[in-house]
Amino acid sequence: MIGRIVKIALDSPLDTEFDYRWLPAQEGDSEPRIGQLALVPFGRREVIGLITAVGDASDYDASKLRDVIALRTQLEPLPPAWLDLCRFAADYYQRPLGEVMLPCLPKGLRTASTVALDRALKKRATARPVAAAAPASATVLNTGQQAAVDAITAAQGFAAHLLFGVTGSGKTEVYLHAAETVIAREQAQGRSAQVLILVPEINLTPQLENSVRARFPHLQVVTLHSQLAEGERLRNWIAAHHGDAAIVLGTRLSVLAAMPQLKLIVVDEEHDPSYKQQEGLRYSARDLAVWRARQLDIPLVLGSATPSIESWQHAGNGRYRRLDLTQRAAANAQLPRVGLIDMEVNKAPEGLSAPLLAALRARLERGEQSLLFLNRRGYAPVMHCDACGWISHCRRCTAFMVLHKPDRRLRCHHCSLEQRIPRACPTCGNVDLQPLGRGTQRIEEQLQTLFPQARVLRIDADSTRRKGSAQAAFDSVHRGEVDILLGTQMVAKGHDFQRLTLVGVINPDTALFSQDYRAGERLFAQLMQVAGRAGRAGTAGNVGNVAQSAELAASGSQPAIGMQRSEVLVQTRYPQHPLYRALLAHDYAGFAEATLAERRSAGLPPFVFQALLRAEAKQLQQALDFLQAARKLMPCEGIVINDPVPMTITRVAGQERAQLLVESASRARLQAFLKPWMAALREMKSRLRWSLEVDPVDI
Ligand code: ADP
Ligand code: ZN
Ligand code: ZN
Repeated sequence: MIGRIVKIALDSPLDTEFDYRWLPAQEGDSEPRIGQLALVPFGRREVIGLITAVGDASDYDASKLRDVIALRTQLEPLPPAWLDLCRFAADYYQRPLGEVMLPCLPKGLRTASTVALDRALKKRATARPVAAAAPASATVLNTGQQAAVDAITAAQGFAAHLLFGVTGSGKTEVYLHAAETVIAREQAQGRSAQVLILVPEINLTPQLENSVRARFPHLQVVTLHSQLAEGERLRNWIAAHHGDAAIVLGTRLSVLAAMPQLKLIVVDEEHDPSYKQQEGLRYSARDLAVWRARQLDIPLVLGSATPSIESWQHAGNGRYRRLDLTQRAAANAQLPRVGLIDMEVNKAPEGLSAPLLAALRARLERGEQSLLFLNRRGYAPVMHCDACGWISHCRRCTAFMVLHKPDRRLRCHHCSLEQRIPRACPTCGNVDLQPLGRGTQRIEEQLQTLFPQARVLRIDADSTRRKGSAQAAFDSVHRGEVDILLGTQMVAKGHDFQRLTLVGVINPDTALFSQDYRAGERLFAQLMQVAGRAGRAGTAGNVGNVAQSAELAASGSQPAIGMQRSEVLVQTRYPQHPLYRALLAHDYAGFAEATLAERRSAGLPPFVFQALLRAEAKQLQQALDFLQAARKLMPCEGIVINDPVPMTITRVAGQERAQLLVESASRARLQAFLKPWMAALREMKSRLRWSLEVDPVDI
């Protein structure tokens, strides 16, 4: 019998593919194919791997090799374009190929048993054709939207578009029209087409998912994200992989889904930090989307009201084509007026200033909704003893234990260590421990005291732990059952709240002085996003800033119908800060240009390319020593290797962490350095945990 030798990528840290022998069990067994999944023995286990090459057994003495146990012939092999994508990601992010390919497959494919796979395939076979309901009527596009759709769909081959549209400018309609056009055009040629739409957050998918399904009732639309049940995730992944799903709507992991007929990629809110995977393969889904579109020679749309500085730079130098939407789309909807509340003047020991409270009261009287944004969950970030100065440190981290009042606990947000609130100070016995600072729970408590009639809803990671609870909470806001919505960045993004006319931002100042050079960019994006939740429906106009509101109140006049009256109030101690001045003017472009100029003169990304080597150990010195040794491993022409330094939050869960920043003005040179450097590092066989991140975002 003729055997084959197959190379197989396995989910293993060894940066190699493994050889196996395949022998047909009986005459006529189908041969192994590249891209196929196979069950193989590995050590004492049986694991799933992916075939990356097939050779003739006679080329080579195969008798020493172990045998493939089974081929997953039920599933189409993963296509060459997908293999190339994984190879690129493995290469660029310096990970073993198997550690890229296998973890991005649904669990049901990676088990020795075929039960889940067979069940999913059976469901596929018996799936009824999608009902041909009439599609929801498409909105008539305005001029800007139409121009954007025309540009995207006119593109021949690869073209990257930066859709720079203010919040509420109708970017979703542009995506849907572009998808429709691309799919219709392929169908007219007798071909099927697939569109991939990436979104940053799971809790944003339902709204978009509904619009997409309503618009394409005759097509299969599937979602892919980490919250799906295993069975559904497997079915949806297979629908993408077999080309059944015309539209895949997913979070960052879906950029690695196999889609044989992919003809258009959309990345919504392309600036969003959640496109960056922070463990394992530390990839940027946005960057991989760009690579994938180029590889497939298809158009790409990156949409945002506040593009990332990298994308802005590419639009400036012509690598991306910028498409602008400068107006809100809904009739009469206008951007809200932004006002700054100077907290040096308006002292507010309880956190909410008088002008903000007045604005809230006015909304309550008019039956409109307000949103308060505070990016800090818990009741108070720390507990404190006035008598002796004790503070609630976490004993395992360089961080404080956060007070969570509803469940009467102190909790570390870095290592999840928990304890009951101490009844008395652990050092001096003082029973009067005080919360310091404020988080969302404390503001919620204050709102309930001040406005006992108001329906206050807090949305943050603590209030939405149960599956589906975030969705239920957002639904109740949409149904108008909430007067004041309070929350962390969870409430800032994407939602199209129709009755919201006031956004209050509580104490965003800390980011202004962060040592993270991206903090300003992130804060600006966050503030623009949260501001963008106000006045989205045409009914909500604008009453201008605080001063004008005060004048109106003093003169006793009411705003005329249709007069502008939606506003954003930011409580700050630095109202003159350039970031806030740009925010007042809704001037993202000005902010981005200034930021680029700063980055250029400071030699920061996107003007240099970086990689970060991190190490952790029981003792800080061990981690630093490891990095010092790593630093001396290789000559590094054209590369700057900085000194190893402890990370800002040095200790987490008892591990001391340090990092080493590697930089180069040339991406190619950095890449050329990293490959042999990684190999040498693996050779060191250090017992301590380390990892490399290419294009790090948190430094
Ligand atoms: P963005 O994603 O740019 O923030 P959305 O896509 O959520 O904006 O659209 C904002 C609102 O404008 C939605 O309620 C949408 O239905 C509406 N809208 C979009 N396009 C149009 C249009 N051409 N005419 C009228 N309303 C529109
Ligand atoms: Zn004390
Ligand atoms: Zn901790």
